[in-house]
Amino acid sequence: MNDIIIAIDGYSSCGKSTFAKAISERLGYTFIDTGAMYRAATLYAMRHNMVSADGSVKREELTAALPLISIRLGRDAQSGESKVFLNGEDVTEEIRLAGVSGSVSRVSELAAVREHLVAQQQAMGQGKAIVMDGRDIGTVVFPSAELKIFMTASPEVRAQRRYRELRAKGVKTSLCEVESNIRQRDAIDENRTVGPLRKADDAVLLDNSHMSVDEQMEWVMKLITSTRP
Ligand code: C5P
Repeated sequence: MNDIIIAIDGYSSCGKSTFAKAISERLGYTFIDTGAMYRAATLYAMRHNMVSADGSVKREELTAALPLISIRLGRDAQSGESKVFLNGEDVTEEIRLAGVSGSVSRVSELAAVREHLVAQQQAMGQGKAIVMDGRDIGTVVFPSAELKIFMTASPEVRAQRRYRELRAKGVKTSLCEVESNIRQRDAIDENRTVGPLRKADDAVLLDNSHMSVDEQMEWVMKLITSTRP
């Protein structure tokens, strides 16, 4: 069977990365979490005082700094866990903290940031055999991906899942705070001018509000079998 590109887009916290990772492991494909790339760029901007207290981003400064931002996605050799490196530093945990979650959609709105990261994502997919998740993978990054999935779940279910995940990691937060961040990010992601979150016309919709990970895997493996030439 030929290798393909699998593009997974959708709303915040509907399990895209867990799903994409599980598919990549099943197929022996590379998994690319593009949200982690936008989060790492946001962390850089925050550390360099390019994000103001009111959430606005210093566009010119960040645009000028883009060549200085090197993001690498890798795996821990021992645990096999996915790791995110920002200029060589492991920032896997830090990019999930509330500060980054609160600013990432503002940074991701900037056309220069998107251009910079989209070019890197396209280079990563040149050899196919990848599962990439994000918001604009099926529409902008790989419009000719062989398989496109658009994921959604109700905002309440998504907030519950994300809340449980953060609590398990020992992050202090409330369900209300998590839900409000999710709704806010969805709104910015859907309404931005460049690369907005939207389902590609040829994407298959997956509402996983009431599906287990095993059920989702069974569903997608059938789809992959019928898609791969
Ligand atoms: O996937 P995750 O929720 O970690 O993504 C964080 C944020 O990064 C999203 O809310 C969105 O603003 C941005 N993002 C994006 N385009 C992508 C992936 C993520 O704008 N392809």
